[in-house]
Amino acid sequence: MDDSQVLPQRLRQLEKAVETMQIGVTITDTSGRIVYINPADAQMHGYEVAELLGQEARVFAPPESWRPFNRQGLHRLTSWSRESVNVRRDGSRFPVFITSDVVFGVEGEPLGVVSCCQDISERKAGEQALRDSEARYALAVAGANDGIWDWDLQANTVYYSPRWSAMVGARAAEVGDSPEAWFSRVHPADLERLKSRIEEHLAGRSTHVQDEHRIKHGDGNYRWVRSRGVAVRDRQGTPLRMAGSLADITDLKVRDPLTGLPNRSLLLDRLAVCIARARRRRELTFAVLFLDLDRFKIVNDTLGHLVGDQLLVALAKRIEASIRPGDTIARYGGDEFIILLDDVRTHEEVTRVADRVHLSLQRPFDVEGRSLFVSASIGIALHSRKYTQAEELLGNADLAMYHAKLQGGARTRVFDASLRQAASERLRLENELRTAIERGELRLHYQPIVVLATGRVVGLEALLRWQTPSHGLLLPRDFLTTAEETGLVVPIGEWVMREACRQMSEWHRRFPVTPPLQISINVSARQIIQPDFAGLVRRILGETGVDPRSVLIEITESTMLQQVDQVIATLEQLRGLGIRICIDDFGTGYSSLVYLQNLPVDILKIDQSFVQRMGLEGQNCELVAAILKMGQDLGLGVIAEGIESEAQKGSLMALSCMLGQGFTFSTALDPETAAALLGRATAP
Ligand code: C2E
Ligand code: MG
Ligand code: MG
Repeated sequence: MDDSQVLPQRLRQLEKAVETMQIGVTITDTSGRIVYINPADAQMHGYEVAELLGQEARVFAPPESWRPFNRQGLHRLTSWSRESVNVRRDGSRFPVFITSDVVFGVEGEPLGVVSCCQDISERKAGEQALRDSEARYALAVAGANDGIWDWDLQANTVYYSPRWSAMVGARAAEVGDSPEAWFSRVHPADLERLKSRIEEHLAGRSTHVQDEHRIKHGDGNYRWVRSRGVAVRDRQGTPLRMAGSLADITDLKVRDPLTGLPNRSLLLDRLAVCIARARRRRELTFAVLFLDLDRFKIVNDTLGHLVGDQLLVALAKRIEASIRPGDTIARYGGDEFIILLDDVRTHEEVTRVADRVHLSLQRPFDVEGRSLFVSASIGIALHSRKYTQAEELLGNADLAMYHAKLQGGARTRVFDASLRQAASERLRLENELRTAIERGELRLHYQPIVVLATGRVVGLEALLRWQTPSHGLLLPRDFLTTAEETGLVVPIGEWVMREACRQMSEWHRRFPVTPPLQISINVSARQIIQPDFAGLVRRILGETGVDPRSVLIEITESTMLQQVDQVIATLEQLRGLGIRICIDDFGTGYSSLVYLQNLPVDILKIDQSFVQRMGLEGQNCELVAAILKMGQDLGLGVIAEGIESEAQKGSLMALSCMLGQGFTFSTALDPETAAALLGRATAP
């Protein structure tokens, strides 16, 4: 190939290259006309190459920017570049980046211009999106309730947003940009955990950092915050920066969500402050009241948690209304509330508050269209210098409350050392109770059930007694709660069942009457829900040979409400044996009539509190009358208990109540005395 062929050959290669380039290339002459354009440039503008040759290059420019072509100008320029907007054939516009070079001839005269044109729509869109998102981010940071932090790990500086600074009660200038600005404010008890969570994340062992900690506010108090963050890493996984947010969760941490009252943790904080302040004071300065609703579980179990919750909310409002503005009421747990009386001087002041609370509970609560009557037990602990821990004070108030409950609820007990002693006494009792059966210390006494009109004995209720070596004869109220709590009630109950049946079997032989004497046996919920309770009863009936038709099992209303299906199934099995079921203390629970209708029950026993409230002239008889009517309508027998006077007996008879028991007829008798009575009462 000779030289004359080399140049055209090279030019053809060059042209081929330009033809296939992605970048648009246009060559114009000195008057601005297109002498060459590559397919990429033509296509970019929506034309065919052939259409453009000889046209003025300014067809690509928006008409508003057309200037008269300045040939002289070319002398002064050699090359230039710019971002601009070009127009396609269809009139649409797009952003471009253009570089132009003037081509000069051998004489130095301009021959034309070569321009390279790139469509930069995508880049522009990307830039805009970035600007938008940055603006959005800035807006979010400014508008968010959360504080933002951004930690440059290489430089070890932290950007804290103005909101972050405000949350810790400081000005931005005071905060500065060191990590210490954060860590130095964190509660000492929370710091180590926070730091180790950050380290864990930086080491790549967690997807993000999240920690709840206390942070010191400029006002000197700690606030609860939740901090979340995530690291940005390079290709090797080395963290470069870490950014995140800080949210104030103090309210979540210290408020009970249901009632909005301060919760346990806030209460403990406040108590700690009170204790510290009162440390050197000799006189009384503050006290706590531990309040617990009586029988709240029954409300919850019978009427559902929704009603229970609403009752608690209403209760909280009432208590709040009966204390002074400066005092704190907190929700301590389920149905437990603590009232912290700050600034009191005398015991009387404290008990007066408790009285006011009891009084405020006398009106019924209207919840979901129902009227609910509730009462509470209150335990009081008065501060003295011997307390150093909030928990001790609360523990003693709790113990006093427990004693208020043991005494029947709806009352107040003030803590004193004797209660502690009683508590350890109880512990001793519990241990003794464990061996009471084997040592033969349990007894049954029997209270006659009589025909009101004639006094004829138709049956007896077996009532448990415990002959202790240390405390003499104890009544169920002295040990039954302990037996229930420890589960001892199960073996004890079995002993009661066997002994009562054995005794009645013997009495049936000694005192045969028609119909045979009935024996009523109290059974607790814990027993009923034992697996195969009915099987145990069947075996005892067999062993003792007593006629099942003369056996009555007494359970309380609340027993019916626990594990309902299982209890009902067991009661049905018992009835299948021929035994009858009696609801004891009827009227003290919340059973509705409809509910009762579906239960396997034969007899209602009117609670003694209703009987004893009946007046001489038939006052306060409505409830008793209603229960008797209900029994009649449902075809159930009714027994009145706790009849202490002739007047009560008279009122009951006037309401057509047939059967009853009570001190006016006889107290519970030991077996010998009972037998003597039976001998007389059944003698022909
Ligand atoms: P309850 O079954 O309602 O028994 C009636 C209670 O009232 C008995 O008290 C009885 O002595 C008392 N009482 C009888 N007539 C009168 C009266 O006219 N006036 C007054 N104020 N009280 C009267 P007790 O024996 O102390 O028993 C208390 C509760 O202990 C019983 O109430 C029962 O719920 C429970 N209990 C007794 N024995 C047993 C038992 O063997 N097993 C179980 N699980 N509970 C038992
Ligand atoms: Mg009973
Ligand atoms: Mg009763």
